[in-house]
Amino acid sequence: MGIVVQKYGGTSVAGPERIKNVAQRVCRAAEAGNQVVVVVSAQGDTTDRLLDMAYTISPDPPKRELDMLLATGEQISISLLAMAIDTLGHKVISLTGAQGGILTDERHTKAKIREVNAERIVAELERGCIVIVAGFQGITPSNDITTLGRGGSDTTAVAVAAALKADICEIYTDVSGVYTADPRIVADARLLPKVGYDEMLELASLGALILQPRAVEVAAIYGVPLHVRSSFSDSPGTIVREVKDMEKVVSVTGVASDDNCAQIVLLGVPRHLNALQLVFGMLAEDGINVDMIVKAQSGPNTDNLSFTVQRNDLKAALSAIKQLQGADEWKILANEDVAKVSIVGAGMMTNPGVAAEMFDALANEGIPVELVTTSEIKVSCLVPRDLYKAAVAACHRRFCLSDTNS
Ligand code: ADP
Ligand code: ASP
Ligand code: MG
Repeated sequence: MGIVVQKYGGTSVAGPERIKNVAQRVCRAAEAGNQVVVVVSAQGDTTDRLLDMAYTISPDPPKRELDMLLATGEQISISLLAMAIDTLGHKVISLTGAQGGILTDERHTKAKIREVNAERIVAELERGCIVIVAGFQGITPSNDITTLGRGGSDTTAVAVAAALKADICEIYTDVSGVYTADPRIVADARLLPKVGYDEMLELASLGALILQPRAVEVAAIYGVPLHVRSSFSDSPGTIVREVKDMEKVVSVTGVASDDNCAQIVLLGVPRHLNALQLVFGMLAEDGINVDMIVKAQSGPNTDNLSFTVQRNDLKAALSAIKQLQGADEWKILANEDVAKVSIVGAGMMTNPGVAAEMFDALANEGIPVELVTTSEIKVSCLVPRDLYKAAVAACHRRFCLSDTNS
């Protein structure tokens, strides 16, 4: 008998019929002789609706209270799913994040799991129960409810799978697996039967919403194989696992995009301020992630600095930087109409000219590039937001990633 962790996303549990469908899948896994732990997200757009409710009451809700509110979404799903499984004649129990031993740090709304104390889950499995755990939420050492950031149920599932040394963590979602690009942007994107942890981490971090990046990170650290598949069909899906170097022959595996970014440009910053240290130190203290950094000399004693942040961090980043500006002359500009398009592939490091191909593909479509960053396995370009889907399609075509090319 093996331990299987299954995670079902919001679309998969949106409405009674879908919950009943999930219940049947869960019971099938149990009837096949497995001990089954299920992690579920809030139904459909519940989390977005809860956020809207909060911002209708307050422009700046306390993060602790936001977490208290957001965590209710997953609690609805776990109880309804437990009821559906109960009607199918299986022993079942639902647990909140706290009851399931999901212990986190105190960074409300983007908490990290420190530890999974799986005693209760194990005890319930041994009693013969299917165990349902609320995704996305945990508890701090001082017993406050936290949430793990958008898409955080993936991370709950992987952390639970790691703690239980589960054989597999199955991520059930509304598409058939991981594709060469978001199938909602590129209609002929191709399903990838397997992806390495490193490529998957890049794709997820660069905007492929299919998995939360943290979930991939935890899976890689603990060697948990992930199986991403559809909750609506039995198609084979994608296995995410360690892929040996010899298999990394394709230069570009996929294209990702992120339209949740904003660009900040600081013009003419006096060099003696040491802007890199000062600005990024301050933003880091505020928990704001910075990406795509370019620094260039603008005068004999001044520099320009350009970088991107997540769009929802823009306001906080600008107000932090304004405090640094004081009475100085330099300028702060912000541009929200940008998006990041990236190509990812572990084979890139041994294939020169990949970046040049990407720039050529974008230039041929008349798509200007504002900023570029590269690593061994990715090239990212910042482009105007209204052109990012065209940019994704152009890269997808250039690197022959569609089905017709396989
Ligand atoms: P869930 O609610 O199941 O967690 P998400 O909406 O978080 O589902 O993630 C699934 C979505 O990820 C898909 O509907 C798809 O639009 C998007 N997506 C982005 N990039 C990719 C990709 N490369 N492959 C598959 N899906 C992707
Ligand atoms: N319900 C949360 C969200 O919408 C967590 C998740 O779906 O993974 O982000
Ligand atoms: Mg998700």
